[in-house]
Amino acid sequence: MLYNFEKPKDAYQIIPQFLTEKGPATFPPYVTFQLVDKCNFKCIMCPRTYIESTNTHFDLDLFKKAIDEISLQGSLIRFIGFDEPFLYKHIKEAISYVKSKKLILHITTNGSLLNSEMREHIVKEKVDSMIFSFQGLSKEEYCAMRAVPLSTYDKVMSNVRSLFHERQNKLPYLKLTTTITSRDDLSCEEEFRREHMQFLDEIQITGFTHFVQVDEYFGRNSIWNELKLKPQKLIKNKKCFYPNYDMIVRANGGVYPCCGSFTEEMKIGNISTQSIREVWDSMELAKVREKTCSGDLEHFSDCKYCPIRYEDEEIKNPVL
Ligand code: SF4
Repeated sequence: MLYNFEKPKDAYQIIPQFLTEKGPATFPPYVTFQLVDKCNFKCIMCPRTYIESTNTHFDLDLFKKAIDEISLQGSLIRFIGFDEPFLYKHIKEAISYVKSKKLILHITTNGSLLNSEMREHIVKEKVDSMIFSFQGLSKEEYCAMRAVPLSTYDKVMSNVRSLFHERQNKLPYLKLTTTITSRDDLSCEEEFRREHMQFLDEIQITGFTHFVQVDEYFGRNSIWNELKLKPQKLIKNKKCFYPNYDMIVRANGGVYPCCGSFTEEMKIGNISTQSIREVWDSMELAKVREKTCSGDLEHFSDCKYCPIRYEDEEIKNPVL
């Protein structure tokens, strides 16, 4: 077995060695599954809102076949993407199958669908970590950017608190990530941390948003004025090494080189007809790496409008 991770963070700690043109990992240290082509939120900053949902659910047998192959290498499994994983009709079976193979499992969710039955399953199966994706530093900003009523925020917070109290042996590890803009009052940061850290293990605050995609790719250039934001600045000569260690499999079995891809342009294979190993070693993926690792980030639309290429000077700690 190639990897022997004890917790999700172990998979991220080996990434620095792949941040180079020298080449990719032997096998992806983590594989991300977007289990359903759908989300129950319509966040104004997310590409998902502007892409038509097909409501495709991952074929469970195909998912199990992929997990069987990955279990031979020990990669971290992640349920993340431009979807809400708890909308997947086989989510409980998928969680149980990953854990039955002794793999480390991480899930990122908006937290709105974690009813008591689902929380019980998460705790029983010992899911290793979960991230609740937030927006802003206040209830009002969260609801404005996520286009949800205030009651949804209360429901999410109630689910987070319940899971914190119900978990055993501190599993899953609970983290909240929130992305902020110049609309946020940064003086509220300390209070935000104090309030939420009572029910979490970690909080991460960044300026990582998708406004450039919403503006340039989806043609909603009024977004900056509507939100009273200044357009983000392009970082010159940026290279991207994500395809050296990242891989996402979408609900239809299609494989893409990073979880930032939202079009079909960078499709590199399909696990209905190929193994993960075949896709990882394919010419298609080699061609993508050639472009991104050399800094040709204009070639694919996904890269051209990717948030990692843009900075926001008003945010103290943007993800670069
Ligand atoms: S620049 Fe391209 S390859 Fe890199 S993370 Fe963005 S979309 Fe993915």
